[in-house]
Amino acid sequence: MPCAPGSLVPDDAARGFRDGRPGRPVWPAVAEVTRFAPSPTGDLHLGHAYAAWFARTLARRSGGRFFVRIEDIDGGRCRNEFVVRNLDDLHWLGLDADEPVLHQSARMPLYAAALGELGRLGVVYPCFCTRRAILAEVAAAGGAPHGAHAAGTVAYPGTCRRLDAEQRARLIAAGTGYALRLDATRALRLTGPLDWSDRRFGLRQVTDADLGDPVIARKEMPVSYHLCVVVDDAAQGVTLVTRGEDLLCATAVHRTLQALLGLPVPQWWHHPLCRDAGGRRLAKRDAAASIRELRQRGLSPAEVLRLAQPSEASGLPLAAAAEGFR
Ligand SMILES: [Zn+2]
Repeated sequence: MPCAPGSLVPDDAARGFRDGRPGRPVWPAVAEVTRFAPSPTGDLHLGHAYAAWFARTLARRSGGRFFVRIEDIDGGRCRNEFVVRNLDDLHWLGLDADEPVLHQSARMPLYAAALGELGRLGVVYPCFCTRRAILAEVAAAGGAPHGAHAAGTVAYPGTCRRLDAEQRARLIAAGTGYALRLDATRALRLTGPLDWSDRRFGLRQVTDADLGDPVIARKEMPVSYHLCVVVDDAAQGVTLVTRGEDLLCATAVHRTLQALLGLPVPQWWHHPLCRDAGGRRLAKRDAAASIRELRQRGLSPAEVLRLAQPSEASGLPLAAAAEGFR
């Protein structure tokens, strides 16, 4: 498992979920709303094909709906030509959405409102650190980074959480750029104990150590991945968030934001990742794994979906796991 997704709630451990291993699969009894949410920073690869197929299969088999959402808040990295190419690849794979595609770049006022609400709750603070300063402080404290956090990097040492109002005002007045971080301890004091349920990993508790004061609004843009995801999942009525297990760490953050913002709480299903022959996670720069490249080489959609299946068990029943690419 790439990171600790909080501790397993004892009752669930007793029901057969084990830390880091596929738990007892829970087949959806209700119509599930799922989504696939690519960032248009490159062409889709086999990992995306699997993620989209996984989400759509669960929606289809439960009689629910499947959405596609374009995560294009980062205007510097996202390109319109990739939006077109990504949607074309999904269509070719037979994985079209059931509703019009949602574009995050058109929804900035909604994210700003959610950020304003967090500000009113007093659970965000400005962080003036550069990445280099954070690494230096962690090293100076004699600490190796103690694990990946929601930010996907080192644990933030809390430097700016300790600044007083006057110090903050002085830095802002001097024009120092800042991100906004969630104060995990204050947030959890407001929400009370939280847990979240994963169809593969069981019921998990949120702890402030899992949260690690994640960035909620970046220096260069007034939003973050975490904030947009919870706002959009709620707006689209997503009931089951399916995504790669590399995002397990982010779920504690999303669950906390949902509680703070009064949003409905979905369930999660973190599936295994597609890896290359050397066991490495696929990346957008791997042309050999790109759907476009495989199309050009003459593979059929079914062949591509078969190639995209990870070697690890996802928890899907076998009949469903073979759907669409026999
Ligand atoms: Zn800072």
